[in-house]
Amino acid sequence: MSTPNSGLLPVASGADVKEYALGLLQRQRAKVLGVLALYALAALAGLAGPRLLGELVGAVQHTTTRTHIDHIGLLLAGFVVAQAVLVRIARYASSVIAEGVFAELREEFLRKVVALPLSTVERAGTGDLLTRMTSDVDAMSRSVRFAMPETMIAMATAILTLVAAFLTAPLVALPCLVVFPLLFVATRWYLKRAPQGYLRERRVYSHLFAGLTETLEGGRTIDALGLQAKRVRRGDDDIRRAFVAERYTLQLRTVWFPSTESAYVLPVVGALLIGGLLALHGHATLAQVTAVTLYFQQLVDPVDRLLGWLDELQIGASSLARLVGVGRVPADRATTGAQPQGEELRADDVHFAYREGRDVLHGINLVVRPGERIAMVGPSGAGKSTLGRLLAGIHGPRTGSVTVGGVPLVELEVDQLRREVALVTQEQHVFVGSVADNLRLARPSADDDQLRSVLRSIDAYDWVQALPDGLATAVGSGGYVLTPAQAQQIALARLVLADPHTLVLDEATSLLDPRAARHLERSLAAVLKGRTVVAIAHRLHTAHDAHRVAVVDGGLVTELGSHDELMASGGAYAQLWHSWRADPTTPSGIGQP
Ligand code: ADP
Repeated sequence: MSTPNSGLLPVASGADVKEYALGLLQRQRAKVLGVLALYALAALAGLAGPRLLGELVGAVQHTTTRTHIDHIGLLLAGFVVAQAVLVRIARYASSVIAEGVFAELREEFLRKVVALPLSTVERAGTGDLLTRMTSDVDAMSRSVRFAMPETMIAMATAILTLVAAFLTAPLVALPCLVVFPLLFVATRWYLKRAPQGYLRERRVYSHLFAGLTETLEGGRTIDALGLQAKRVRRGDDDIRRAFVAERYTLQLRTVWFPSTESAYVLPVVGALLIGGLLALHGHATLAQVTAVTLYFQQLVDPVDRLLGWLDELQIGASSLARLVGVGRVPADRATTGAQPQGEELRADDVHFAYREGRDVLHGINLVVRPGERIAMVGPSGAGKSTLGRLLAGIHGPRTGSVTVGGVPLVELEVDQLRREVALVTQEQHVFVGSVADNLRLARPSADDDQLRSVLRSIDAYDWVQALPDGLATAVGSGGYVLTPAQAQQIALARLVLADPHTLVLDEATSLLDPRAARHLERSLAAVLKGRTVVAIAHRLHTAHDAHRVAVVDGGLVTELGSHDELMASGGAYAQLWHSWRADPTTPSGIGQP
């Protein structure tokens, strides 16, 4: 079966995951060793039981006193209590460690997700990322919180129990060796197949969820284009794949579980049979046979748990591979440390594609002179926003270059890039925090006076001052609700604080009511003052005000010049201008036909 993997985020290799997990443990080494020591002590206390019971059998076999038996009984009780107390402390300590490790994992994952190149997220879609953030993190959580500590306990207990059995009576303990090849073969067989099986299971679920989210998000489009049957078919196919993948791992378990089950019943039977024979011939005492048999009986529990959790660990490991994989997305920019010489922004023979083989920009050349204002106009889908994003360094060109002061934008640190060029769009997010916090995102060192003067400069001081707590008013989700125009102004204030010399501006203020828009325009004018501006113009009168107009059509700059020059040449721009003059109520003859 082919596995759907196109466009999904990468999955880390086995070696990569191992290194990562070891690194995590390494950082907690002292604590982990401490907890292991506690578990070892607990296991040792547990080992006294069979030994004492063996002694009891031996004592009853010969003549004994009541006090002797009472004595053994008391000792037994003491060890049981000691074991319980030690296990309790160790469990608590290991839970604390596990929570710490899990928290670290989550924080690191979040850091990686936030740092993902925008281009990657756009390509991979949100379904895959969401599956990783939800079900993979859940699977990881079970592994880290329960499977890891439980495996450690079980391992320590099993090893110590085996050692005790051998020390008690090596000859009687020998039969348990039979178990190891059996366990080894079955487990090897399982482990060889399980990781791929579980990875596939996760992958098909990612695909399934990606499809479902797409169907949900694009519900209207699907309705409009009559794609329902096709979407349902895709859903059915994905569910079938998920079923096949689940059945495969279930098959693995149905082979592995019974073979291991039988593997740990055998030693008990063996110890009784062989031990009995040895005892009959005087090569072992009844006390020894009893103790070893009980040890083997006691071994069943940790080994059973060990194997049970191994399965969970496998699932966790495949989830971890997917979480670590998110960090393996190659960066879409490489900082060289080169410093821009000057403020000239230019695009040279820029080609760009969102999807391989489908260029949307076909060789753009544009030199933005410092201090000038260029308006970009052209039909919808011509590539204006795309060019804008490239000029602001959000995407890198496929071929050609976009440079500021001679340095490619994608070679600048993001912080530095934002001091050179910034993109201003109408999508503005107000973050949870105070108004001041929202502003300081652009310049953390700014003090309140600076914030106030910036707000004044864009004519936003009055309303901020009128908020319940002024600059300290909590805004964002759950806080004071700002109007879209206010949110825009906050974003503009951030720009003034970041102070880039060049702005790429998506001029759509059309979503706001006209009064707010006029007000906002004044704020914007204050921000633009003294800066180089590349504006994606949605209204022709703003194009008229620009120093030069670039007409973008079909991924190319088809006309470039001042308003007067373009009018004189009588090209596409002149025609649009005339039709707009004839009917200025249409907001834009060019930007939004
Ligand atoms: P404009 O701003 O002039 O309307 P765009 O730059 O938005 O044009 O779009 C140019 C072309 O690129 C269009 O064909 C559009 O469908 C495509 N496009 C835009 N954004 C994406 C994206 N994120 N993924 C794939 N294709 C895109």
